[in-house]
Amino acid sequence: MTTILEVEQLRTRFRTENGVVNVVDGVDFSIRAGETLGVVGESGCGKSVTSLSIMRLLPPNGRAEGTIRFNGTNLLELSEKEMQAVRGNDISMIFQEPMTSLNPLHTVGRQIEEAIQLHWKVSKAQARERAIAMLKAVGMPRAEEIYGEYPHQLSGGMRQRVMIAMAMACDPKLIIADEPTTALDVTIQAQILDLMRELKEKTGTSIMLITHDLGVVAEMCDRVIVMYAGQVVEETDVETLFEQPKHPYTIGLMKSIPELDEEREYLDTIPGAVPLPHQMPKGCRFAPRCAQAMPICREQPPELLQLDGHKCRCWLYAEGRHEA
Ligand code: SF4
Repeated sequence: MTTILEVEQLRTRFRTENGVVNVVDGVDFSIRAGETLGVVGESGCGKSVTSLSIMRLLPPNGRAEGTIRFNGTNLLELSEKEMQAVRGNDISMIFQEPMTSLNPLHTVGRQIEEAIQLHWKVSKAQARERAIAMLKAVGMPRAEEIYGEYPHQLSGGMRQRVMIAMAMACDPKLIIADEPTTALDVTIQAQILDLMRELKEKTGTSIMLITHDLGVVAEMCDRVIVMYAGQVVEETDVETLFEQPKHPYTIGLMKSIPELDEEREYLDTIPGAVPLPHQMPKGCRFAPRCAQAMPICREQPPELLQLDGHKCRCWLYAEGRHEA
């Protein structure tokens, strides 16, 4: 399968009042054509900053270094004008809260139309036709009427469908969806995930799905990277992740999924919190929260080890280093 996105040694730094901090610190991953890659971790692990680095949408105090090769072109070397041609056309994004990305003053139809006309040389009538077709494709009832409505007239689920219609309007090769269903209630969440899966199957678009929810990963993804404190700590295919998670952080995340068939009063949660970028522990970044931490874990940072069908950043799996 062709690789469409290859991220190598991505480092994203921010100038802050505490000095320069690395929020993403040496991240490598790739996405193949037609694949859905899940990017999992708690908030503060660098998932969203990774996606904003790919889209070159970092705030002015942020800077990404490394290589982000999309279809062979390093996006970090493009001019802003060249990057504008990529955004929304080759790669588009769906955010958690559509109200912050939709313009409240314009009708949803006009916004989809504008996204199309920005990248495609089509007449207004053709753009309108495509916009209505997209609203129908995302399962909007009364697509022609919705076309003339404003975002505030729609429910949260419908707004997210509009965002998906807009993101898919120019047939992108990659969609980055950042917690696309987190703000929605469970039933609508399931409908939006079904829709994304259906559209992906029809169009062959690749998806980078950022989520803190392993339930969403199980439903949607082919492969998964788990991020912790700005680094990839585990990478494998989705079946292996659920059957044989290796990293203690991933195992902790698994234990915090509510199990429907079990009436547990309390969920197991991982104690403590993700370290702040300017307070990273010296050794393994997960050591202060890890029940299996060994002396070496507090002294030396583990490498991302290549195991059988798995990558894992943990001293437990380094030969000759197991001291438990
Ligand atoms: Fe836990 Fe040590 Fe593995 Fe880090 S390296 S996850 S502290 S066992």
